[in-house]
Amino acid sequence: MIIAIDGPAAAGKGTLARRIAETYGYHHLDTGLTYRATAKALLDAGLSLDDETIAEDMARKVDLAGLDRTVLSRHEIGEAASKIAVMPAVRRALVDAQRRFALKTPGAVLDGRDIGTVVCQDAPVKLYVTASAEVRARRRFEEIIDAGGSADYDAIFADVKRRDERDMGRTDSPLKPAEEAYLLDTSEMSIEAAFQTAKSIIDAALSRNA
Ligand code: C5P
Repeated sequence: MIIAIDGPAAAGKGTLARRIAETYGYHHLDTGLTYRATAKALLDAGLSLDDETIAEDMARKVDLAGLDRTVLSRHEIGEAASKIAVMPAVRRALVDAQRRFALKTPGAVLDGRDIGTVVCQDAPVKLYVTASAEVRARRRFEEIIDAGGSADYDAIFADVKRRDERDMGRTDSPLKPAEEAYLLDTSEMSIEAAFQTAKSIIDAALSRNA
């Protein structure tokens, strides 16, 4: 079983993906971390983010078993990740590794930007999780404040918009819903409600496959 979850930054797809993986006992891969790990390796080595050959080489060395969300969550790593994510050679390298991961038994949940459209086009379940840019910026802002940090809502909002433009506007694998994806708009929906909807879609797919 493969469950493909796509959507823009801060739409809640990561939380949803983890919850689904836990519920069904499937493996989970946040594919954003693979782009982040590549970007971090380049930054750490003091290498340019503009050289596609070097970036591809780094992408091929990413170990999917060693992805650490805490280390990779930094804002500047996310920015760098979305820059190298426009490079076709980087995408090819990471997509190869993601496809191998998707074959794990008894099932895998992959979340990202191009899972339903490129990485796992045959996935029996495709979800597109979205929310308005205002709601996503507000959630990110509150997350930082709740964790005791300080944040500027307008800067976060501008950031969310910039990331959306880059992810939706690139030529290779732009962010968009797969034709057969089920749209989950979490702007006014709790994560619990989103999970229950996702669960009924997955259960229906499982009984079709049984
Ligand atoms: O989801 P996250 O913010 O960790 O992703 C970081 C960046 O990696 C995204 O902005 C996007 O440019 C890129 N990405 C991608 N394809 C994926 C997952 C992430 O291009 N499947």
